[in-house]
Parts: sequence; C-alpha cells; structure tokens
Amino acid sequence: MKFWTAMAALVCAGSAVFAADSPDVKKFTFQNDVEVYAIRDKATTMKGSLFSDYTKTSSLKKDALKKEYPSSVNCFVLRLNFKTFLIDAGNFDEKGSLVTKLATINVRPKNVDYILLTHLHPDHVGGLIDKDGKAVFPNAKVYVTFEEWKHWSPIIAKQKPEEILAKFHNAYNGRIQTLSFGEPIVSNLYAVKAVGHTPGHCFYRYSNIRFIGDLVHAVDLQVEHPEYCASFDNDKKQAYQTRVASLESLSKDGNLVFGAHIPFPGAGYIMKEGSGFKFDPYKGK
Ligand SMILES: [Zn+2]
Repeated sequence: MKFWTAMAALVCAGSAVFAADSPDVKKFTFQNDVEVYAIRDKATTMKGSLFSDYTKTSSLKKDALKKEYPSSVNCFVLRLNFKTFLIDAGNFDEKGSLVTKLATINVRPKNVDYILLTHLHPDHVGGLIDKDGKAVFPNAKVYVTFEEWKHWSPIIAKQKPEEILAKFHNAYNGRIQTLSFGEPIVSNLYAVKAVGHTPGHCFYRYSNIRFIGDLVHAVDLQVEHPEYCASFDNDKKQAYQTRVASLESLSKDGNLVFGAHIPFPGAGYIMKEGSGFKFDPYKGK
C-alpha cells in the first residue's frame, strides 16, 4: 500500500513524453515507469446537428453547427506497477484490430489484468468481444460502476443473445465487478462520478491523470460551449451540469486528461479562458 502511495505521489503528468508511436498508437511515459498508451479505433467526425443547447441561452451562432467537428474513438492502456489496465475498448467491430494494435505495444490479451469501463455504450464495449461472441481478454476483471450496471442490467436481460451488451455479459459473466465512485481499484486509482451521459458514467483517475470518457464528444465545441449536449447524452440537464463542474475542476487541478472522443491521441489540458474554458492539446516536450 505504501509503495502505491509513493508511486502516485511521484507521477508527474507534466513530464510525459511521447515514444514508440505508430499511426493509431501513441505512448506517454511518466515518471516511475507509469505509461499510458492512446489507441485509436477510428478517426471520425461529429455533425454539428447532433448537438443542442440545453440552456437555450448560448451565445453560439446557429451557423456554427452547420460544420462537422473532428472526433475519434479512442481507448487507453495504463501500465502501472507491472499491471495492465485497459480503459474502454472502442467499437473495434469484428476485425480483431484492437488485439493487433495491442500487439504493437507488446500487450497480449491474456496479460490484460483489468478493464475499466467509463460506461456501457457499444463504442466502449465492442472491442471486448470477438467475432464469435467470445471474450477477447480471458483473464481480465471488468469494472463498471454500480449505477451504470443497475441501469443496463434490466436492458441486458431483455436483449437477444446477438445484441452487444448481451454478448458482453455472456462473455464476461462472473468477471464483471461493480464499483462505487471513489472506491480504489488499486491504490490511488478510482472512478470519479461524472453522470449524465449515462446514469453511471465515470472518469478514472490515477494521480494527476484522468480518463474522462464521454465528457465531450466534440471537444472544439463543448469545452467552450458546455451547454451543448450531444444527442447521445441520456440526461441532458445532468450531462450539462457535470460538464460545467468537471471543466471547472479540471481547469483548476491541471490534470492531464484523456478523452474517448477527443481527436487522437485524445490528450490535453482544460484551461480557463475568460469566463469559460479552452482545450489545450498535449504536445509533448
Ligand atoms: Zn462514446
């Protein structure tokens, strides 16, 4: 326990460097052998028409929503004290490309110890299942928040076996563990409540690194204008409140954030700008 605490205290996000990159995989190295790899499932865009102003008071001109915003589907590997954590898994449909991309960083599926899901949408769960509906990761424990599981369980119970969450549930049955917000997975690594996009959506925090899942879908729009909710946000009022509160705290604490839909490699800082916020992509040293 003391070792973990000491490790966490010494991790310094500001010292991250890129190394050993390929077009869809980017490595960030921190002090004390803590590593994060950003893995891109695919580059994508988000149509402006997907977004609506929850507050109905936005200063944004409606014409701004006629464009498409750059986006991505990313997942992340965190390597910490010889353990391997996969944070979300992308869509990765049925081509096995997550396994191929993990191989480029010498991670074999059997060696993934923990899978941490920010929520249970298909673009975060799809990469966990192969074309035969089997678990890609034979040994990993899968963590999801209690609130998220409570929301999806009755839906899963009604799904046909070929539907994605039913496949996920069958493939990982007995290895899915629910988690309370703030409960440590290992020392200093825990889920942070960030509900609204889904009822149990969370961030994962380790030291001064945060994996922020679907806090934003179009970073170029929603950091400056957090009042804009994506149509995918389950509870728009809550999603808006969470986005504003999270941007405020992220801008204060200076954590390095990794987002599932921030253009690859999905990393950067939230900064205060005037009365609002801006996103500063991580550029390395
Ligand atoms: Zn998503």
